[in-house]
Amino acid sequence: MRNSLKIVLPFPGMEHSWRTRAEEERKIDFRRDPSGAALCTAAYAASELKYFLEKAAPEPEVEITERNPAEPSPFVRLEIEGKDTGGGFELQPRGSGLVVKGHGRNGLLNGVYELLRLQGWRWLEPGPYGEIAPDKPTFDFLKCAKTCIPSFRYRMIDQYRESDDSVELLKWFSRHRINAVFRKTATGRFADKLGMLSRRGGHLLTKLMNPERLLPDGRTIWDAHPEWYGLPADGVRKKETALRIQLCFSQPGVIDYLCRSVFELLTSGEMAEVDMIDLWGFDTWGKNCSCEGCRHLGNGADQNLFLLSRIRDFLNRNLDRKVMMNTISYEGTVTMEATTKPVPRNLAAAGDFVIFYPIRRCYRHLLGDRRCELNKSYRESLEGWHQKAPGLSLWSGEYYNVSKFEDLPLVFADLIPAEMRYYHANGCNGATYMHNLSPNWGVRALTQLQHTQYAWDTGTDDKAFLAEYFVGKYGLHADKMRAVYRKIEDGLGDISSWRNWGIGALDVLMPWAGERPEKEFSLPHFPTVKAVLSALRKGVKQLESALEELRECLRAEQARNWHDLPAIRDIPPILTPAGLEKIRFYDKVEYRLGEDIRGLVYGLDTLRLLQRIVEYHDALYRGMKGEKQWEKIEELASKMSGCYVPIAYEGSAPGVQVKDALTRTQLRMLITRCRGARIRQKEKPA
Ligand SMILES: [Zn+2]
Ligand SMILES: [Zn+2]
Repeated sequence: MRNSLKIVLPFPGMEHSWRTRAEEERKIDFRRDPSGAALCTAAYAASELKYFLEKAAPEPEVEITERNPAEPSPFVRLEIEGKDTGGGFELQPRGSGLVVKGHGRNGLLNGVYELLRLQGWRWLEPGPYGEIAPDKPTFDFLKCAKTCIPSFRYRMIDQYRESDDSVELLKWFSRHRINAVFRKTATGRFADKLGMLSRRGGHLLTKLMNPERLLPDGRTIWDAHPEWYGLPADGVRKKETALRIQLCFSQPGVIDYLCRSVFELLTSGEMAEVDMIDLWGFDTWGKNCSCEGCRHLGNGADQNLFLLSRIRDFLNRNLDRKVMMNTISYEGTVTMEATTKPVPRNLAAAGDFVIFYPIRRCYRHLLGDRRCELNKSYRESLEGWHQKAPGLSLWSGEYYNVSKFEDLPLVFADLIPAEMRYYHANGCNGATYMHNLSPNWGVRALTQLQHTQYAWDTGTDDKAFLAEYFVGKYGLHADKMRAVYRKIEDGLGDISSWRNWGIGALDVLMPWAGERPEKEFSLPHFPTVKAVLSALRKGVKQLESALEELRECLRAEQARNWHDLPAIRDIPPILTPAGLEKIRFYDKVEYRLGEDIRGLVYGLDTLRLLQRIVEYHDALYRGMKGEKQWEKIEELASKMSGCYVPIAYEGSAPGVQVKDALTRTQLRMLITRCRGARIRQKEKPA
């Protein structure tokens, strides 16, 4: 490696002020001061480049200057050309150096991280623990010429919870070329600095149309305008059920009210700095308004787009900044099925979009797999949106960590690349999924990495990408760990059948009183209860074997670590971040295996518990007492009740909750009911 490298920031005064500039995001109005914004992002990009180049090899000096060096010596010049938010960039070798030209601020950062990738840097998880440093760092990246335009223009992971308000998470997002995030109170400006678009909203219409919400004249919405709420089939509107039916969009009053309410939201308070607003309907799995006017508007999707189009007109006339609106293709809001009418032109022109959220999808099969009866309607819906709504931007919204999955150690290594290509081929230009992972990613780091990688480039080489992940993360254990991941992916492949909303075993068991069941246990995709049990047992076996192999890897790693690792005994009372890093993450591979083991122990117990409960259900159904099965349930429930699974960050307000493993299975209440049924049975006179 040559001895020094200059990072050229071609802005006056940057040589001395880059450190301050890189951290002054709180002083900048990123939406109204483009040159201040560019200075801040470019200075931050330079500081990141310097930090990692110096961390890779301490010898070379990396200096930040304003001008290209006079003599031929290595340099990287950072430029921002234009204001595009998509994240594209160019790398252009020039003499002894290279120009990184971002097609906007997000693009510049992506270009800088591309150089670091070329040098060998990887970021598997947030924080230093997830970093992989280059083996033999060089400046060979200076010779690389390329132009990168992402496959999906909008790339994000839904991190809607306030407890996702994290600088380390945003840095990880940035290093993986994410360009849209849910805006958070503490880190909103930090995300602005990273050139990310801010999104917010969710099921916003529920909040705006709460029947108890006060109008300016002091009356509640319901008291003043019951006719704004959807008309039930029986023709009688009731306050208690007002939100079960979507709004009556034929009422000019409600449209006008919503136009003004959305405008107010976007011009004051926490939404004053968002760039994308979710305007989703009531998530109540109800119906549309049955009045004649609404029927004329078309299906649920047509009605929703009609509303958005009217709000779009209002915003175009009144709002002084660009904000994209979105609605969803989703059953809960009666908008799954594609639009039947031409898409309003003003929506397409503004870049407004629809997010396709197939919440009850099956993960055993791909969306395009014609053998799967569960995914059939989703496939038709997505392809319908693609064909019938040209011009309207379409996003994929996956559910790799939907709340029912409770942070289980799921792997989708084979599914994600295929699914992302399918979405891309069907017109999607945005990709997201629910829900972002809280800490303790374990094997799920691969899901975050694959989602972000394929959102960036659907042409990624699948095998090479996986090989790099396993070698980078597990070193000598790469091949064994690839086999472990395969077992986990297959062992939990029926996760939707076990736990998902509406179609899963949890939904069958939740209402069960614990007495002898009247009906045999049954699930879609499984012809008999025998087939259900056989799949559960097979899954448990695969996870058991995966866990055993993981433990073998850990033992092998421990056998080496004691003499390979630095023996730091003299720990200073005050540690720098770098010093702390050395002590805390001294045994990265051992720590990573430990993290995977903890996640898998919880996943295995959760699947075992489900298996035992289905066995118990079946024993009672067959007229037996289920003594043996019950004992096994009590034993496992007691074990799970004794462990924390510290990964529940589900409140909508800031703060963290920690659940025990049993509570996370969502089966605690059922076990209580079964226990009650058994006690009552024993108390009955013989
Ligand atoms: Zn109506
Ligand atoms: Zn299926």
